[in-house]
Amino acid sequence: MEIKKINSLKNRMGTNSYLIMDNNSAILIDAGISPDDILKYNINLKAIFLTHCHYDHIMFLNELYNFYKCDIYISEKDKNGIFDESINLSNVFKRNFTFDGNKSSIKTFKDNDIIQIGNFNIKCLLTPGHTAGSASFLIEKNLFSGDTLFAESIGRTDFKTSSPLEQKSSLERLEKVDFLKLYPGHSRMSDINEQKTNIKQWLSNY
Ligand SMILES: [Zn+2]
Repeated sequence: MEIKKINSLKNRMGTNSYLIMDNNSAILIDAGISPDDILKYNINLKAIFLTHCHYDHIMFLNELYNFYKCDIYISEKDKNGIFDESINLSNVFKRNFTFDGNKSSIKTFKDNDIIQIGNFNIKCLLTPGHTAGSASFLIEKNLFSGDTLFAESIGRTDFKTSSPLEQKSSLERLEKVDFLKLYPGHSRMSDINEQKTNIKQWLSNY
């Protein structure tokens, strides 16, 4: 299994998407990159997992879906966001994004669901706070934390469906997750040692 952190020049918000490959099969965490950004890997994209519904994480969802026709996984609570420009905040950027592919391709998961796709086992952890349906994904000992936890900060909790209280519980939860590497939705990657200290620090500030 190989994990590539990919940023698109067409995404001005510096969103990280992660392509996880096993031979020719792949899954993608977040849709902040376009098919052009991953064509060179020559992969068969099986599924896209969305950490949450904000525009910078879903902006190329239509292009990716039209090209790969793959399933899209999102939490139940953030699902409506991909059909509502005021929840996904694309209206702020005057883009008015809504998903226009086949609705039956949108699959939802619940907390602790383990979804198996080919050789990938994706454990879904609901980590609300940044949005009502924010999720993190654990694949082997790799934690994909979206905008819940970054290398050097935590996600904002002043959006429409945010909750600072839920964010606190989510950080308490992530503190107990058995991971080695952290793959956040923005900025650089990190690891468990750095995050043990960081999460404690964030929680003490709450
Ligand atoms: Zn966000």
